[in-house]
Amino acid sequence: MAEHVNREIHLKSRPAGMPKAENFELVETPMPKPGPGQFLVRNIFMSVDPYMRGRMMDRESYVPPFQVGQVLDGGSVGRVIESHNDAFKAGDYVCGFASGGWREYWVSEGMMMQKIDPGLAPLQAYLGTLGMPGLTAYSGLLRIGEPKEGETVFVSAAAGAVGSIVCQIAKIKGCRVVGSVGSDDKIKWLRGEAGADAAVNYKTCGNLEAAVKKECPKGIDIYFENVGGEHLEVALNLMNSRGRIIACGMISMYNAVEMPPGPRNIVLIVGKSLKMQGFIVSNYLDMVPAFYSDMGQWIRNGKIKWEETIVDGIDNAPKAFLGLFTGANVGKMLVRLGPEKG
Ligand code: NDP
Repeated sequence: MAEHVNREIHLKSRPAGMPKAENFELVETPMPKPGPGQFLVRNIFMSVDPYMRGRMMDRESYVPPFQVGQVLDGGSVGRVIESHNDAFKAGDYVCGFASGGWREYWVSEGMMMQKIDPGLAPLQAYLGTLGMPGLTAYSGLLRIGEPKEGETVFVSAAAGAVGSIVCQIAKIKGCRVVGSVGSDDKIKWLRGEAGADAAVNYKTCGNLEAAVKKECPKGIDIYFENVGGEHLEVALNLMNSRGRIIACGMISMYNAVEMPPGPRNIVLIVGKSLKMQGFIVSNYLDMVPAFYSDMGQWIRNGKIKWEETIVDGIDNAPKAFLGLFTGANVGKMLVRLGPEKG
């Protein structure tokens, strides 16, 4: 790449159903120049996340929609290469939790930016375990789920960025942890490395309810919902009285052209006195200091492990994003955009 060129991914058209490669466009743009108070970042990693699918639709939400013909956006980590901002110096490593992604270079004013120390954790961990997905797992499970020792926690998309951390925090809290995943390799990782007590492959198990019930002989006390659809119906059937459903996401519905009818057994929420609460990770920014403190300790003590799936090159960013909907990732899905040093 010539030094004066920047490459970024634009939304070429709004997807209908499952997005396709042709909905994205690789565009060369002039290298951005930082003005007063700004700094230029060379990205090293960018994040692809399921919530970005919602932003590809033209509708009101908690984040504004992406615009056709414009660069996409999302979390990124990179290195400052030129700065006119006193708080960020050339050479600093920085993380934009929800900004700067889908491009190789970008200019920031420092809003929602954090300096990160590559000596403490690999840079890309700030987009996963030590970043937005990690905080989502931590805050959702602890604040909404309130797990107690001996309880059974069922987690869907359990080998993903959020789910795998939920499983491990639930184990730390003394719970029995059962995950649902889409491959036998993920089962192996979840049980072997992440320490889940049991896991089911929802694609091959035949009857999902029977498979989950077998692994949750005392019923489910907490369901960490990442998937929706059949998983939610199964969980509702198996929930214990006064159980908690943490509605974090419903990825099985993100590409639906028409929304399916709601869970047929939703009435169970009444008789079982269930709590079901949705949340957005930014609701719980008050938990950030406790999150860093607990996660730091758990990682040092070997109680939290993580996996990541890395795809190389900005031109492959759409492929990485699409992979989230086919289960191509174990742990956090990331795109590497450049070398760490230099
Ligand atoms: P993951 O790393 O878990 O990747 C997505 C995974 O979802 C895939 O690997 C795949 O795993 C599974 N999946 C995809 N399609 C389906 C399907 N149709 N049915 C069942 N499983 C499917 O992503 P994240 O950890 O980033 O996100 C997990 C969930 O958390 C998402 O619903 C996301 O929207 C939500 N989220 C919510 C936040 C909030 O603030 N509320 C913040 C961050 C994430 P498999 O092989 O097992 O099928």
